[in-house]
Amino acid sequence: HAKEEGRNTYRFFDEVMNVNALERLHMENALRRALDQQEFQLYYQPQVNLASGRIIGMEALLRWFSGTLGGISPAHFIPLAEECGLIVPIGRWVLFEACRQARQWQDRGLPPVPVAVNLSALQFRRADMVATIREALEAARLDARWLELELTESLLMQSGTEVEATLRELKALGVRMSIDDFGTGYSSLAYLKRFPVDCLKIDQSFVRDLTDDPDDAAIVRAVIQLGRSLRLEVIAEGTETPDQLDFLRNEGCSAAQGYVFSPPLPADAVTELLRIGTLPAAPIIPC
Ligand code: C2E
Ligand code: MG
Ligand code: MG
Ligand code: MG
Repeated sequence: HAKEEGRNTYRFFDEVMNVNALERLHMENALRRALDQQEFQLYYQPQVNLASGRIIGMEALLRWFSGTLGGISPAHFIPLAEECGLIVPIGRWVLFEACRQARQWQDRGLPPVPVAVNLSALQFRRADMVATIREALEAARLDARWLELELTESLLMQSGTEVEATLRELKALGVRMSIDDFGTGYSSLAYLKRFPVDCLKIDQSFVRDLTDDPDDAAIVRAVIQLGRSLRLEVIAEGTETPDQLDFLRNEGCSAAQGYVFSPPLPADAVTELLRIGTLPAAPIIPC
């Protein structure tokens, strides 16, 4: 009996695996065609200065509307795109599109703000990475200071000196650099001194329970202090409530990003926000 049960368990497990593998294959095939089919779109989320309420930046967040699979979250397809290497051409498209959009906003006379693009480790490791960024800027005739690259701690910890040399090249090019999801990776504080970054983005997992969890509050407070001492901008990610904003403001955090100001929106929708230039804090329910 136990043997039978064991076999059934295996079969069940096997079927689950097959379904997943098949789904994965479907998704990978669809992802392979997505660029050609123009199924990607960039959404933008404003970053807001907490003292003035002014919009100080826009983060570009990739959206995939698949003709066969529907809308798929980047949390699902980015890891897959990284595994099969598709993140390289997709990430290249993101860079060109974000630069093009930044330029278009400026051409329309809107107050210029940096547009932040998320970079994957695989993109960053490529020998032609800096050249690709230069190309994207040139194609859009965009000044480098209006492009910000969001890098993760794990990306920065990859392989020591080469990373540092690449960061110096990017700095020389004039792009801004921030550390995304700060506090969730290997937090070697030594690299903050070595690496020419401009901004720390406090991960949303620390912001979420800020007002209830004293440990999260302590971590957020410490990162804000660290940023101030090193003269780095600090952006609190995933800020959803006015209470969180009050805490951040009281602790001297320079900026925040999250549903309390605006969810990520299509370019057309944020154009109007850029025109106004400031954003009031209001708990917005994301769509
Ligand atoms: P991330 O760069 O840390 O982006 C922040 C995520 O938090 C976004 O999820 C955003 O929609 C979400 N978010 C913003 N405000 C709030 C809030 O108030 N509450 C909550 N709960 N969430 C909020 P999204 O757009 O699903 O992106 C997920 C991740 O996918 C990003 O995390 C980033 O790591 C990756 N990603 C997105 N676009 C790209 C891209 O173009 N290239 C690469 N390499 N990765 C990307
Ligand atoms: Mg990001
Ligand atoms: Mg983040
Ligand atoms: Mg994240």
